[in-house]
Order: sequence, then C-alpha cells, then structure tokens
Amino acid sequence: MPEVSSAKRSAVAPDFDVVIVGGGLAGLYSIYRFRKMGLNIRAYEAGDGVGGTWFWNRYPGCRCDVESMEYSYSFDDDLQQEWVWPERYGTQPVILEYINHVAKRFDLMRDVQLNTRITQAVFCEKKHLWTITTNNGEQITAPICIMAAGNLSTPRKPDFPGLDNFKGDWYHTGLWPKEGVDFTDKRVGVIGTGSSGVQMMPHIAAQAKHLTVFQRTANFSLPARNAPLDPEKERKHKEEYRERRLAAYNTPFGIAGYPPPDKSALEATEEERRAIYEDKWQEGGSISYLFAYKDLLLNKDANDTASDFVRNKIRATVNDPNTAELLCPDNHPIGTKRLILDSNYYEIFNQSNVKLVDVKSAPIQEITPNGIKTTESEYQLDAIAFATGFDAMTGAIKEIDVRVDGGTTIEEQWDSGPRTYLGLMVAGLPNMFMITGPQSPGVKSQMILSIEWHINWVANCLSYMRDNNHTRVAAEVKAQQQWVDHVREVADSTLYPLANSWYMGANIPGKARVFMPYVAGVEAYTKECNRVTQNGYQGFEFSTNIS
Ligand code: NAP
Repeated sequence: MPEVSSAKRSAVAPDFDVVIVGGGLAGLYSIYRFRKMGLNIRAYEAGDGVGGTWFWNRYPGCRCDVESMEYSYSFDDDLQQEWVWPERYGTQPVILEYINHVAKRFDLMRDVQLNTRITQAVFCEKKHLWTITTNNGEQITAPICIMAAGNLSTPRKPDFPGLDNFKGDWYHTGLWPKEGVDFTDKRVGVIGTGSSGVQMMPHIAAQAKHLTVFQRTANFSLPARNAPLDPEKERKHKEEYRERRLAAYNTPFGIAGYPPPDKSALEATEEERRAIYEDKWQEGGSISYLFAYKDLLLNKDANDTASDFVRNKIRATVNDPNTAELLCPDNHPIGTKRLILDSNYYEIFNQSNVKLVDVKSAPIQEITPNGIKTTESEYQLDAIAFATGFDAMTGAIKEIDVRVDGGTTIEEQWDSGPRTYLGLMVAGLPNMFMITGPQSPGVKSQMILSIEWHINWVANCLSYMRDNNHTRVAAEVKAQQQWVDHVREVADSTLYPLANSWYMGANIPGKARVFMPYVAGVEAYTKECNRVTQNGYQGFEFSTNIS
C-alpha cells in the first residue's frame, strides 16, 4: 500500500500505512509480517504489556488446552527450534514469557503503543482513510485497519445487585491482578464452571479455607494429563516441525497427527467403544477424544455414547452421589460447548472444604455485604471470583465505534449476529480486516495457525492492491450473504447449535443467538480462501482513489 498511498496522498499524509488494534499474538505477528513488506505500522494495546489473552488471564492454574509443541508461531524456524517448552501444555506465565521473547527477538515493541485503547474507527470514503481515536483522545490516520482485538478479550460478569456493598474482594479470571491473590484462610466463592473456573478451582481448593462452587450448567471436562515434556518427543517433533505445520492446514482443527476416524460410534460394540474411550481418556486432550469416531459431533445417538462415558467417569470419581449427579452435564452433547481439560477438577469435590451449589435450581439473587444469596440460602464469603466468561468473538470489535463516515456502527450492523465474508472483512467497512474474526475457524482451531493464515492472507491482499494501484478493498454484499448462509448451513449440519454456548452468544443476556465460528474445519476454510484468491479475489471489490 505505501506506494499507492504516497502517490495519491493529498497534502497531509496518513500517519501510518496500517493501524493494528491489539497487541496479542495476532497484533505482534501483524507487526512482523507487515514490517517485512516495508509498511509503516503501529499497534495499539490497552494493557501495559503485550500478550493479549495471556497478559490478562493470570488466574491460578491458567494453562493452554492446546499442546505446547503446537501452540506457537511457525513463521521463524530458528525460533521454533530454539524455544523449549517445559510441559505438555503451556502455563500462562510460560506462554507470556514466550510472547515477550518473540517481541524482543524480532524488535516488535518499537511499533507498539501500550496503555492505549482504541475507542473509535471511522472510514472516509472520499479519502479511503481510517481515522482512529484512542481513549487518550489521540487521532491517527491510516488507509488500512487491522482488528486483532481477540475473540475472548471482553470479560463479562453478571449484573448481580449488591456487588458494590460486598465487604470482601472480588476478581474476574480475565482481569486477574498481576501480583496474584492469596486465598489462604479465606472463604472463597467461584461463579462459573467453564474452562477458566475448572482450571482455577483445584488451586483455590488447595489454598483456601473453604471453596463454594456456584454452578449453573455442568460442563464436560477431560483430564489434560499434563506432564513435563518428554525430551525425545520434543526432539522428534522439532525434527518434523516444517512438515507438521504444513500438514496442519489439511486437518479440521489445524493440528497434525490425529488421523481422521472413519468409523461411526454406532458401528462399534459397546465393549469396543468403552475400550476406545478409555484409551483416549488415559491419553488426555480433547481432539483425541472427539476423534474417537467420525460422527460424535454429527449424530446425537453417537454422541450419547461418548457423553455417557464421561458422565460415568464423573460418578466414579466423586464420592457423594448427589454431588456427582449435579456435576454430570445433562443439557448438551459433549464437545458442543468448548471441551474443558482439567487437572484434578472432579477430585476436589471429595475434599471437606469444597461445596457445590446448584444455581440453576436456586439462582443467585444478589451479592450481600457478606457473600452470595441465592433463592435458597446465603453463603458467607471473604472473596468472590467470577469465572463467568467473555462477550466472545464479537465483543471486542463491537465495543469500538467502527463505521464508515455517516454510516451505521458495526454494533448496529451486527445486531442480529455477525455478518462477514470469510471472517475477514465486513461488507460496508472497506480496508478493515479482522484476524480470526467471527465466521472463520479461529476459535475452533489451533489459534496461532489461524492467526498466521489470516495475516498472511491480508499481506498478500495488500501486495495485490499495491501491484494494482488499488487504495480500497471491500467485501461484496452478495458474497458476504452467501458466506453467512454457508456458515449457518455447516453449523446446522452438526450438533453444535444444540448447546447454549458462547459460540452461540448464549452466555450474554440479549446477545443474538447465532452460531459464530465456521466449523467445516481449517482444511475446508483455507481451500476456500485459496480458491477465492485464485479467482482474482472473488467476492471482494477493489478501487482506486483518484481525488
Ligand atoms: P465460559 O466458558 O463462558 O464459562 C462461564 C461460566 O460462567 C459458565 O459456567 C456459565 O454458566 C457461568 N455463568 C455465567 N453467567 C452466570 C450467572 N449469571 N450465574 C451463574 N453462572 C453464570 O467462560 P470461561 O470459562 O472463561 O471460558 C471461555 C473460553 O475461554 C473457553 O471456552 C476457552 O475457549 C477459553 N479458555 C481456554 C482455556 C484454555 O486454553 N485452557 C482456559 C480458559 C479459557 P452457563 O454455562 O450456565 O452459562
């Protein structure tokens, strides 16, 4: 873009060629990639450090549920050969250390402005230029805006009355204090039993005087089986890194090494099924389990066999039968909500200092000065931790006033759910690219692979524009509509829409219930992106500013 913009610039040149919103894994790779193209860039990050998800989610036990040999950048061979992951799954501190290492190694920080939140982005159709406003009142212009604001970066806690009067301390997993929290001798209440709550609670149960778990919906959780990384396994993986990374693009989740199953769960005998599920249970990890049979996410009867297996594991682990039954998920098929990986979660309910409270049958009414009051009882607490999740996938972008000058905001445009073309662009918002946006496989894939794919795609698109003297690109309304329909049809052919998940927007009161990720898989998606590009960026329209 720079040649084009400089050739066509009016008196005042834009501040940058590209503005990047966010300094997480996507923001940092954007800097690296666009800088290589000779572009003048600036990334804006709300935190006082980079890392995104891994900067904010510092709750005890926070760990990635994708194995560390996979969950890393692939763009630099030396980096991936040299970095040593200590465990099978990376902890938050180690992943953050890795991200800071990457930022330093590639000198990325000089293009990051920390402590700065983007509040508004307005596109001028006459100048083909974004004007971006920060929370400090600063205004910056650039022809291209990259939304790298994250999918799970807008923490949400329910609006229970009375929180302001609570005499103890309260926290949200997604905004955990940097200095950590000492729960020794405290009576702690945790609201929420998704990945964050389930990962965190064994650590709190080990430290606190008492832990009360407020559960609205029981979720499926599998053992992570975390362990120090076997040096031989690491050596072999590193030897095959290039081939594995390439092969990952031809898989559903962006992770190589899991051959797709070809058998239906309903074709196997009960004994065979039990043996396979047991094998996967012992192995740990979610892909392996959901890949036991080809139809676990497609056929409810097939799924029931896998769901029942886990319910029986919960019953076999938790001593008190009433507690065990409450912990058994009964309102969604396994895998249709993000499958949780835990380390000794169900076991904590055998500890005398842990109590499970069902807030589905007796909902939380209010926070009192001394604790949490449900319709049945009041629980005395010294601290409350909200593990209540995020306004996922659309929250971070909708929080920004994004629009074309004189047009409607993205929040208004997405009132009935996100509408994108390939999860990359929004028709009517030219020159703005989303990284792992809604309706792309992002959250249903190895996220870093999807981030690199999107940023490389955008880089190629910007080169194409530069080569053709284009200053504006936009998704066509018709192509967007076809993509929105396709994303929905794919989702409807699976069991995913049966769950009230954050994939559906169901965790946020008032949010449109629309299934947001593209679940045909990474392979199908990347092939479609390649097809679009090979057909001359089919579905995108380009133009040149001649003013
Ligand atoms: P989440 O999965 O959305 O879970 C939020 C929990 O809070 C749910 O149990 C929800 O219950 C409960 N909740 C919300 N509002 C409530 C209310 N008013 N009353 C009672 N309970 C309420 O959020 P999360 O655990 O933070 O995880 C979000 C995603 O982040 C994960 O799915 C995962 O993709 C990612 N993550 C990944 C890791 C990892 O890599 N290991 C770790 C943490 C998070 P309902 O189910 O009834 O709504």
